[in-house]
Amino acid sequence: MVAKYDEEQTFPWDIVKVMAESDLFGIYIEEKYGGFGGGVLELCLAVEELSKICGGISLSLAATALGAFPLILFGSDEQKQKYLPRLAAGEILAAFALTEANAGSDAGGIQTTAKKDGDHYVLNGTKQWITNGGEAEIYTVIAKTDPTKGSRGASAFLVDKGTPGFDFGKKENKLGIRASVTRELVFEDCRIPKENLLGREGMGFIVAMKTVDKSRPGVAAQALGIAQGALDEAVRYARERVQFGKPIISFQGLQFMLADMAIEIEAARSLVYQTARMIDSGCKKVAKESAMCKVFASDVAMKVTVNAVQILGGYGYMKEYPVEKMMRDAKITQIYEGTNEIQRGVIAGNLIKEYAAKK
Ligand SMILES: Cc1cc2nc3c(=O)[nH]c(=O)nc-3n(C[C@H](O)[C@H](O)[C@H](O)COP(=O)(O)OP(=O)(O)OC[C@H]3O[C@@H](n4cnc5c(N)ncnc54)[C@H](O)[C@@H]3O)c2cc1C
Repeated sequence: MVAKYDEEQTFPWDIVKVMAESDLFGIYIEEKYGGFGGGVLELCLAVEELSKICGGISLSLAATALGAFPLILFGSDEQKQKYLPRLAAGEILAAFALTEANAGSDAGGIQTTAKKDGDHYVLNGTKQWITNGGEAEIYTVIAKTDPTKGSRGASAFLVDKGTPGFDFGKKENKLGIRASVTRELVFEDCRIPKENLLGREGMGFIVAMKTVDKSRPGVAAQALGIAQGALDEAVRYARERVQFGKPIISFQGLQFMLADMAIEIEAARSLVYQTARMIDSGCKKVAKESAMCKVFASDVAMKVTVNAVQILGGYGYMKEYPVEKMMRDAKITQIYEGTNEIQRGVIAGNLIKEYAAKK
C-alpha cells in the first residue's frame, strides 16, 4: 500500500479517511472546537507513529496542523468556529502558504499582494511548493498588504478553496514524501472578505514565525518516526540475513552501527518531546528549542536511513524493501519549514542574544 502511493504519487484519501475516523485530526485542537484538547506533544506522537510506516502519509496530518496553527494562535472565535470543528473531524484539510519561487529562506521577499478594496482584499501572486495544495479546503496565505513597509508590510489571510480567482498550478514530482501532494497556488484578482484577515494587518510575518515555532517539532517528529521505522527494518533484516553461516547481526561492525542509530534516535526523541512539552506549557520563547529539535531529528533521520540502506546491502537499494523510500523521505525534513542552515542561524542568533544579556 505504502509502496503504491510512493510509486503512483497519488494522494492517500482512503488512509486519510481512516485517520479521520480514528480522531487523529482533532488531537491538538481545543475541546470547545470539537478536538481532543491535546497539544503539540500529542500531535508529535501521532506524526511519529504514522511516519514509522510512511513519512508522506503522516504529512497530511502535520501539514494540516501547520495550516491550522495560525488560526489557533491568531484567529477570532468566529473564525475558529467556522473552521476548527471541521478540521478536528478530519472533514477538511488545511495548508500553509508562504514560499514563492523567489522567496524561500528569504521569506521577506514574497511578492504576492493583498490590496484592500472596500470590505475585501484582492490577492494576486503565486505560492510555490505548498503541501496539501489542491486537497486542502482552507489555506493560510501570507501576502504583502504594504510592500513599502518591509517585514511589517505582510498580513495573513484565510482563503477557501473554490474562491473565484484562486486556482492550483503545477503539481510537483518529488524525490520523497510522494504520498504527499506539493502544489502551486495561483491567485488572480482573488477577492476575499476582510473578515478573513488573521490578526491585524502587518502581522503576517509574526503569524508565520509563531506558527513555525509551534510546527517545527512536528517536522522533527516526522523525522524521528522515519528514523525509528528504518532502525526497526534494519534490525529485523540483520537478524534474518545469513552470511558466513551466521545472521549478520552477530557481526560487531553492524552491532555498533545499530547501537549508534538507536542512541541518536533516543536522543532526538527526548529533544522533540521536551520541546513539545515546553510549547504546551505555554512558554512563549521557543524559537531556539524548536529549531534545535528540527535540526537534530532531521539530521539523525538522514544518517540513520542511509545506514539502514547500508545494513540491508544491495537489498536495501531495491524498492522491494522499505528503507530506500525512508532514505528519500528523510531528506525533506532537513529542508522544509526552514532549512537546517537557517535553523542553525536561528539557534546562533538566540545564543548571541542570551549571552549578551548575561553581561
Ligand atoms: C516538498 C516540499 C514541501 C514544502 N511545503 C511547503 C508548504 O507547505 N508551505 C510553504 O510555505 N513552503 C513549503 N515548502 C518550501 C520550503 O519551506 C522551502 O523550500 C525552504 O524554506 C527553503 O527554501 P528554498 O527551497 O527556496 O531554498 P533557498 O532559500 O534558495 O536555499 C538554498 C540553499 O541555500 C541555503 N541558504 C539560504 N540562505 C542562507 C543563509 N542566510 N545562510 C546559510 N545558508 C542559506 C539554504 O539552507 C539551502 O541550502 C516546501 C518545500 C518542499 C520541497
